[in-house]
Amino acid sequence: MTFEQILDSKGIHHEQGSPGWINILCPFCEIRGKQQGSRPLLGVHVSNDCAYCLHCQWSCKKDGMQKVLDALRIDEMVSGREKPTEVEEVDAKLPDEYVRLVPIPKGELLREAYDYLHHRGVSDKQITKKQVGVCLSGRYAYRVIFPVITEHELRGFVARDFTDKQKVPYLNSVGTKAVYNLRGRRQNVALLFEGILKCLAAERVLGEDADCLAVLGKSITDEQVELLRGYKRVVLVPDNDGPGLRGMLKMAAKLCAEGFNVGITRLPVQFKDCDDAYVAGDWGCIRELLTYARPYNEVTETKTRIEAAWDFRSR
Ligand SMILES: [Zn+2]
Repeated sequence: MTFEQILDSKGIHHEQGSPGWINILCPFCEIRGKQQGSRPLLGVHVSNDCAYCLHCQWSCKKDGMQKVLDALRIDEMVSGREKPTEVEEVDAKLPDEYVRLVPIPKGELLREAYDYLHHRGVSDKQITKKQVGVCLSGRYAYRVIFPVITEHELRGFVARDFTDKQKVPYLNSVGTKAVYNLRGRRQNVALLFEGILKCLAAERVLGEDADCLAVLGKSITDEQVELLRGYKRVVLVPDNDGPGLRGMLKMAAKLCAEGFNVGITRLPVQFKDCDDAYVAGDWGCIRELLTYARPYNEVTETKTRIEAAWDFRSR
C-alpha cells in the first residue's frame, strides 16, 4: 500500500498540502514537549520521502513516511508511491516577445527599460540573477518582465510599464500566485513584501541576513502559505498606507493560524514603501526592519493599527 492508502485504511485524518505534500496531526509534537493541537502541521512529502513539522520542527530528510508510520504505531510497510497529485496545468512561460536585459543594453528602448530599473536602484547583479527582461511588442509591450521563479521553477511573471505612460502599471501573467524570490536554500527568516521592487530593494540592503520575498499582492493564498513552510520566522513589511497595512495584518493572522512565528515591522512614515526608502537613500531604516520587528499577536495588531491611523491621519 502507498502511504496515503495506509493512512486511509487506519482512518488517520490527512489533508493535501501543496503538490506532493500530505499533512497530518504530528505524532512527534507531544514527545518534543509541544501541545499537539488540532491542525495537521506535519507535512510528509510522498515522493521525496522527507517530512517537517511546522510546530515542533521535527524533520527528516529520508525514510520520512516509514518513520511517521512507526511513530503512529502503524505496523505497515510503505510500498509503491502515490501518483503525483494532479496539478492544474499552468501555462507558465514567458511572453514570446521577452528578451533578456543585459546591463548597458544597446538600443534606445532597451536603454529606457534599463534606466527605469536603474533609477529604482535595481542592480546589474539582480537584473542578471533574476533574469529580468523586457518586451518591446505584443500584449506586454514597453514593460519590464520579472520572471516569478519559485524554487528554480518558472511560475509566471510580472510585467511593469517602464514608460510610466500606460494606464495599467502592472500586469500579471495568468496562473496561480507563487512567491517571488523564493529559493531552495533558505535563511532562517523571511521578509515578506507586497511587490517585487520592494523586495529587491530590501535584498540589496540586507544581503544574506534574510530572504526577501514578495507575495505579489495584498493577500496570501493557501499555496503561498505552504511554500513558506520551513522558515523559522516570517516578518511582514506592509506598504505605508491603509490598504497595505490592512492586507498585511490579515496575512499575519492567517500565517499565525497556520503555526508560523510571525513578526510585523514598519518603515518610517515618510516612506511609501521599501523601494521609496531605498531611492531616497535611507538604507538605515531598511537595515532596522528586522531589529524592530514585533512578534505578531492581538496586542501588537491593535498597537500597529493605532499607530498607523495616527501616521496616516492627513492622507
Ligand atoms: Zn510536531
